[in-house]
Amino acid sequence: MHRVYNFSAGPSILPISVLEQVQKELLNYHETGMSIMEMSHRSTAFQDIVDETKDLLCELMNIPENYEVLFIQGGASLQFSMIPLNLMQRYKHAAYVHTGSWSKKAIQEAEKIGTVSVIASSENDRFTSIPEINSTLFSREIDYVHITTNNTIEGTRYVNIPETGEIPLVADMSSNILSEEYDITKFGLIYAGAQKNLGPAGLTVVIVRKDLIGSANSSCPTMLNYETYSKHNSLYNTPPSFSIYVTKLVLQWLKAQGGVEEIEKRNYEKAAILYNFLDESSLFTSPVNTVYRSLMNIPFTTSSNEKNALFIQEAKKHGFETLKGHRSVGGMRASIYNAMPIEGVQALVDFMHIFEKKHK
Ligand SMILES: *Cc1c(COP(=O)(O)O)cnc(C)c1O
Repeated sequence: MHRVYNFSAGPSILPISVLEQVQKELLNYHETGMSIMEMSHRSTAFQDIVDETKDLLCELMNIPENYEVLFIQGGASLQFSMIPLNLMQRYKHAAYVHTGSWSKKAIQEAEKIGTVSVIASSENDRFTSIPEINSTLFSREIDYVHITTNNTIEGTRYVNIPETGEIPLVADMSSNILSEEYDITKFGLIYAGAQKNLGPAGLTVVIVRKDLIGSANSSCPTMLNYETYSKHNSLYNTPPSFSIYVTKLVLQWLKAQGGVEEIEKRNYEKAAILYNFLDESSLFTSPVNTVYRSLMNIPFTTSSNEKNALFIQEAKKHGFETLKGHRSVGGMRASIYNAMPIEGVQALVDFMHIFEKKHK
């Protein structure tokens, strides 16, 4: 069977064993005589999947009892609106750290609901780093602080999570959830679209401290209120059942790999292979400040747009897919999520080496 090395930023690579299990169970899930896709979300078989998925996520991320896991649709982008609708309650004011295209969208949506202070930004260095966050910035009366732990497009990540004290810290973890260990208690809310490190598109996971649920205005639409999901075990309406099922399989796969601790180690190894090559290359460079380099999304470039285009074209011919950088950044980007095997990264670097010799 022909499979490529898929470096897409999202939807992105899934573990092959997961895809095979999906295939095996597709027509007849656990002797039910039907596919998960055809099954009532009120059936015991599906409710079990929801519970197992939550339990696995809690186990893998070490999520404490006072948090809830919610399964929502609408992507991480809908959370840009749901977060302020649910959390901008006391002061109608939130602090955002601006680190790239996704934080920009989060800020724009929050501004429609209340007041936003951008307390730090890396815009001045074209988002190639993460700004210092001074804790005195939090002394104002704000409902929460919002960060983007990994900037998918720019290829940066927070090395340290800011301490926000009593103020809830909200994190968009769409592109690096489960890629490294995090202390959940530092966060009030974590959200992630599934299609990067969790499963297929259609599902958004929200991990929220219980005391932050239930204070949305009565005018808040039912489907935008976290309380609706919390009260109904994320089954108020039809959930993205197939996405939840595949996510469960991905979490089982991750557990079998040795959990987040082990996958984090591998992610460091994988990223180092590519960064070490970039730092020594006479053709390719990384635009990102070494301290803040992402483990998941690695942008790089050559000396010219022509060589970039040629590289992308040649790479595709050799089975390395979706290496084109985001249109806002240009160049190339290799997304090497949990499911990308180390062999894939090594093969890419070997190919880059050959290309460099020919074209420098
Ligand atoms: C992909 C991405 C989003 C948007 O996700 P959707 O599910 O497409 O809405 C938001 N934030 C980050 C960090 C992302 O990587």
